[in-house]
Amino acid sequence: MIELQGINKTYQVGESPLRALRDVNITIKAGEYLSVMGPSGSGKSTLLNMVGLLDRPDSGCYRLDGITTERLGEEARARLRADYIGFIFQAFHLVNRLTTLENVELPMMLAGLAPKQRRQKAMAVLEQVGLADRAGHRPNQLSGGQLQRVAIARAIVMKPRLLLADEPTGNLDQASGQEVVEVLEGLNSEGITLLVVTHDGNLGKRAGRRIRMVDGQIEADSGDGNAAAGPTAL
Ligand code: ADP
Ligand code: MG
Repeated sequence: MIELQGINKTYQVGESPLRALRDVNITIKAGEYLSVMGPSGSGKSTLLNMVGLLDRPDSGCYRLDGITTERLGEEARARLRADYIGFIFQAFHLVNRLTTLENVELPMMLAGLAPKQRRQKAMAVLEQVGLADRAGHRPNQLSGGQLQRVAIARAIVMKPRLLLADEPTGNLDQASGQEVVEVLEGLNSEGITLLVVTHDGNLGKRAGRRIRMVDGQIEADSGDGNAAAGPTAL
C-alpha cells in the first residue's frame, strides 16, 4: 500500500542544511500496524507527514496504493489525502467553538455531504469511539482522552484506509492513553493500516511491526523481511 524508495528531505535552517530524512526505504502492506520510535528530532514526524502527503520529498519515490505521488499536483494530492488518509496529532486540533458532533462533521462538510447524511455518519463513528453521549459537548467540556477520541472519530469518518497518528497519547495520562490506544487498535483489527509515532515504549512495542529512526534514517525495522517481499505490498 505504501512504498517509499530513496526518500530524502532536507530543511534549510539558517546557513546549514538539516537532513531530516536520509535515503528512507520502506514498504508497508495494507492492514499493518506499525510503530515509529526514536529520539526527538530523528525525523519521525517528517516521515509521517511524507506518508500523509502533507510534505514532499526532495528526492525519492513515494507510491501510495500504486499511485506515484510525485507527479501529482496539489489538488490531486489533497484529493488522495481526503480519500485514503486520516490524521491524529498529539494536540487534538479540534475546533473549540464547535460541538463534538460538528467537529466530526467537518470533513464531510468539506466533502459536500448532505446534512442528514453527515449527522448520521458522525453519530455512528462517535458511537464507535464510545462518545455518542458527548455529541453536544464542546471541547472545553471534555477530558484529554475524550478529545483524542473525538479527533479519531473525525479522522475515520470518511473511511480512510490509512490512519497516521503522531504521538497520539503524548498529552494524555496513562488511563486515557490506554483508551485511545484501544480505539486505534480496534480500528486496525477491522482492517485499517495504522502508523503510530510514539515516545512510549509500552505503546511502541504493541505494534506488529516496529521501526526505529535515528538521524533521519531507519535504523531498525522489525518487519524488514516483509518489506523485502516487495510488490505484494501494493
Ligand atoms: P521527530 O518527530 O522525530 O522529533 P521531526 O521529523 O519533527 O523529528 O524533525 C526532524 C528534524 O527536522 C529536526 O531536526 C527538526 O528540527 C527538523 N525540522 C522538522 N521540520 C522542520 C521545518 N519545517 N523546518 C526546519 N526544520 C525542520
Ligand atoms: Mg515529532
